[in-house]
Amino acid sequence: MTLEFSERIARIPVYPVAGGYAQQEPLVRLASNESPYPPLPEVREAIEGALSTLNRYPDPTNSILRARLSDRYEVPAARIAIGNGSCDILLAAGEALLEPGAELVYSWPSFSIYPHLGAASGARAVTVPLDAEECHDLEAMLREITVATRLAIVCNPNNPTSTALALSDIAAFVAEVPNHVCVIVDEAYCEFNLLEDPDASLELLDRHPNLVLLRTFSKVHGLCGLRAGFALCGSEDLPRAVDQVRQPFFCNALAQAAAVEALAHQDAVIERVTRTIAERLSVDERLRALGLDPALSQANFCWFALGDRSEIGQREEAEAEVMEGLRQRGVLVRGGGALGRAGALRVTYGTPEENTRFLEALAEVL
Ligand SMILES: *Cc1c(COP(=O)(O)O)cnc(C)c1O
Repeated sequence: MTLEFSERIARIPVYPVAGGYAQQEPLVRLASNESPYPPLPEVREAIEGALSTLNRYPDPTNSILRARLSDRYEVPAARIAIGNGSCDILLAAGEALLEPGAELVYSWPSFSIYPHLGAASGARAVTVPLDAEECHDLEAMLREITVATRLAIVCNPNNPTSTALALSDIAAFVAEVPNHVCVIVDEAYCEFNLLEDPDASLELLDRHPNLVLLRTFSKVHGLCGLRAGFALCGSEDLPRAVDQVRQPFFCNALAQAAAVEALAHQDAVIERVTRTIAERLSVDERLRALGLDPALSQANFCWFALGDRSEIGQREEAEAEVMEGLRQRGVLVRGGGALGRAGALRVTYGTPEENTRFLEALAEVL
């Protein structure tokens, strides 16, 4: 006897996991866009302080965290959704908005979770190719929006290509999208974007009740191991709906305590961003010295093709060879094949030492 699953189980893609989780030896882990810096001492203290009350359920309304986010971003608490990581909010938004007959629009390659939304709901996913600069083509996305569209996702800066759009382009896009369509701007990496102040997009929320700015404690705050994300929304509708489709205690007590404390250390955010951007400039320059052509990164990772082989088979082969060569030298990166484009690499900027180890290994392998 084999189990009989629902039809959607055959449709939902298996998330492409990074390797190396079972390995103990110190590896250079540049595969998941994590922060190379450990949580702040104050954040660790806040987590330790919450340990003694783990016999109690966490606050299902996340009231303290939402109040602090409301103070920090000047968005009413009722327009803020919390998630077990921002992926939790994405999946819940898909469940709340989508169903068979509905459509969602996003660019490709983009974040590897987005295909789950269409597959899980049975909605039709319309994917729009990135332009020649590896950026979202917002005009082409607009053309794909129909009466059936319920959700459009713009990832800015885009994972895996690291590129960002000007806020004025996003503002013009949101202004053209009909009000019945929820627009999620996934800003997981916005702190690293030098094109714009990371808070500049907030002003769009007051004009567009259908807009959602998705943010996370996983990247610049370095708390991805705990799982906490949030969405700043143009109205109370989406926070209410995502809470309806999830279990009540989706954000655990340690994550809530850590996130509240992390918000109090904006100076540390700025310092980490400064260090990352210094590495971004240095790594990209050294990649170009190796004859590679990284995309214009506004994130904490780079994206580059491994030569201009025209056949997909050759690209897959080149990617697999380079990945294996790096792995043998203790360096983990992400291959583009699993992210929507074979023959490319996505590499997180680590510490200066890690980046040098990566670049030395890459030079040997190439
Ligand atoms: C890393 C990432 C997230 C954050 O996911 P969490 O669930 O908050 O850890 C969201 N969107 C994109 C595009 C990302 O790369």
